[in-house]
Amino acid sequence: MQRSLIRTGLALAAQHPALILWYLQNRLRQAILPLERLAGDGRSLPPRYVTLKPTLRCNLRCAFCRFVANGDVFGGRDWLDREDWLRVVDEIAPYRPYICLTGGEPTLYPHLPELIARIKSHGLICVLTTNGTLLEAKAAALAMSPPDVVILSIDGPREVHDRARVMPGTYDRALRGARALAERMLDARGRMPGEGSRPLAGDRSLTDADRMQITQEGTALPSARPSSSRHTLRLVLNAAITGHTWESAQEMIRVAREFGAWALHFQHFWFMTQPMVDAHNARWGDCFPLDADHVGLTGEDGVDPDALFDTIERLRREDFGFPVLFYPELTRDQMRTYYRAPERFTHTGVPSCAWTSTDILPNGDVAPCFDLVVGNVLHEPFAKIWESEPFRAHRRRLSEHGPYPICARCCAYFRHD
Ligand code: SF4
Ligand code: SF4
Repeated sequence: MQRSLIRTGLALAAQHPALILWYLQNRLRQAILPLERLAGDGRSLPPRYVTLKPTLRCNLRCAFCRFVANGDVFGGRDWLDREDWLRVVDEIAPYRPYICLTGGEPTLYPHLPELIARIKSHGLICVLTTNGTLLEAKAAALAMSPPDVVILSIDGPREVHDRARVMPGTYDRALRGARALAERMLDARGRMPGEGSRPLAGDRSLTDADRMQITQEGTALPSARPSSSRHTLRLVLNAAITGHTWESAQEMIRVAREFGAWALHFQHFWFMTQPMVDAHNARWGDCFPLDADHVGLTGEDGVDPDALFDTIERLRREDFGFPVLFYPELTRDQMRTYYRAPERFTHTGVPSCAWTSTDILPNGDVAPCFDLVVGNVLHEPFAKIWESEPFRAHRRRLSEHGPYPICARCCAYFRHD
């Protein structure tokens, strides 16, 4: 195990015991899931993660995005009223799940800071996933009630990232956004009563050396970090591995340093191919049909799995001072299968997603798996939907028949933490 991973784990345990507790509870939950499946008849214990998608709109048009493929990013105002989202958070809070805010681009949702504040007011862990291009404008508001972790999608060095995101300047905008947020969070800490005596970053607070570190390195480096973790930006760079980006995996170390990232996470791209959709509909089309146009087909070619595996092995052996993670973890053979035969499974087993998580979409639909909608939070309490017959039928299908064909390259399939 990387020494930096152990260091980060220990620091995290000290700064944020709730996150460690949540992780241990997850491990326990995963351990008892087989019993839950056997005994539950489609019922489930409470969710461990809930993904809120305040909007599916996005200001970018990334080449590989399924919401571009199906047109959702182009939509008009698509969000629930502010009061409805806040009520949904209140309804979910007693389950104590980790809340992930994603989209589309969640920073387009005008009440995002209030939504995060409500999540944090319940003491829930909140993670924000963003393309970072609007962070600079939103930094001041977000800094007053920041998420626990910001996951920033950066797929490569400047040119590679901008090409993958189909818009020049996206890398630099994300970099400015990350820096602005880090600095605003330091400022906010200076204004918090009882948060120590560190003065404001904007004037007399930071030494020239501190400010140089912030402006040159992106986020506050350890010497510029306040002792409290509450207003320290925990930035995770998430790099999607695609045919456009895989060759620059090594360079992502420099990129992560430039952003001042707390961790670097590589995500093997997930695919939804026509043969997967066809196989799914042939088996499940009567009760859970998929429309390829709406679900958004994605595929990948151009990745050399052997060369990629060698790069990953090299990265694994080094200690860069921050954790470098790969998801899912794949052996060489699994990586060949993953990229050369997308419809074939690399792992066995039933996905845990249906028992531990769900998405809630901008219109209030509760969707545990792509276009499968099992209820709507505008019409029913979340608790009722979690145990509703459509949700239980989804769990029974997975329990009794194993994964759907579309699970083969779905990121949720590999999640067992
Ligand atoms: S930033 Fe994300 S949601 Fe927006 S187009 Fe790109 S991949 Fe899709
Ligand atoms: S892993 Fe399978 S069941 Fe879970 S969300 Fe993905 S496709 Fe659906």
